[in-house]
Amino acid sequence: MTLNWLKKKTPPNKAQKDKEELPDRQAVYFKRLRAGLSKTRAILTTDLEDLFAKKKKIDDDLLEELEKLLITSDMGVQTSMDLIERISDKSSKIEDADELKNALKEEILSFLDAQTQVSDKITSHPHVIMVVGVNGTGKTTSIGKLAARYTSAGKKVLIAAADTFRAAAVEQLEIWADRAGADIVKQKEGTDPAAVAYDSIEAAIARDCDIVLVDTAGRLHTKINLMEELKKIKRTISKKLPGAPHEILLVLDATTGQNALSQAKSFNEALDITAIALTKLDGTARGGVVVGIFTALNIPLKYIGVGEQIEDLQDFDPVRFVNALF
Ligand code: GDP
Ligand code: MG
Repeated sequence: MTLNWLKKKTPPNKAQKDKEELPDRQAVYFKRLRAGLSKTRAILTTDLEDLFAKKKKIDDDLLEELEKLLITSDMGVQTSMDLIERISDKSSKIEDADELKNALKEEILSFLDAQTQVSDKITSHPHVIMVVGVNGTGKTTSIGKLAARYTSAGKKVLIAAADTFRAAAVEQLEIWADRAGADIVKQKEGTDPAAVAYDSIEAAIARDCDIVLVDTAGRLHTKINLMEELKKIKRTISKKLPGAPHEILLVLDATTGQNALSQAKSFNEALDITAIALTKLDGTARGGVVVGIFTALNIPLKYIGVGEQIEDLQDFDPVRFVNALF
């Protein structure tokens, strides 16, 4: 009698239900990530399998070819050489392509894990995120995706249209704000961007918003006046709300490879970047640039973009990334 009662399936409570749904959602994210990384994976796995099929063992030739593959995927020359050395040390234990892939995964992960993880804590109200980067990297799109994420988590979001150089930039942002259910503060084309940022913070405080996302212009990073302007926006925000901006997110385009790294250096010098979003990993075979970012810069990689849908801006998770890469 007692046993029967125990065997009877009890309806899951909410916590249990969430647990059951979680792997599903993770699976969807992983699938999208894998699809997004397909071009890089084609280099790293198809070519690697071909290599092994020809050689059937690890020798100097194979290691040399492998090093070329890693460099082609934009992991950086030094990192690729380091990886090869580590693989070479393990080579007696590697007998097939799968074992080689696993060894590579393990070694790449050790590079990615070495960096401190970014905290997601929101301690200020409103929490201000200033988004910067050169033109076309995906700032506006990423702001739209982030806004949607925050609103669906129940946060009240305000977007500041501080890229006042093109009317089209504001229109694009309005569409995203509308989709995400976020407020937007805008002014006419050509207005001082710092003034728009100032008004936005004021509005966010008055409207009791949780999150402010500040869009900015991104003409060439080599133009000194862009950096001066961004610094002015940053100063103006902190005048209105001491401690803000709480995050300065630099958006980089993965398809620009090593060039993205030099952009990061100049933006960081001017603004003290707190985190990086790396977009368009779906458009490139050079996804190894993620590893390059970890080894070359001391700035956390917080988000990666693997497509144009809202769920294609993902939190960067080293284990999930490496698993999707091979
Ligand atoms: P901004 O100039 O930095 O504001 O760049 P936008 O947000 O306007 O984006 C420039 C282009 O890149 C747009 O066509 C976006 O749809 C596209 N884009 C942004 N992120 C991604 C991504 O992760 N994957 C792909 N394939 N396209 C993206
Ligand atoms: Mg834009």
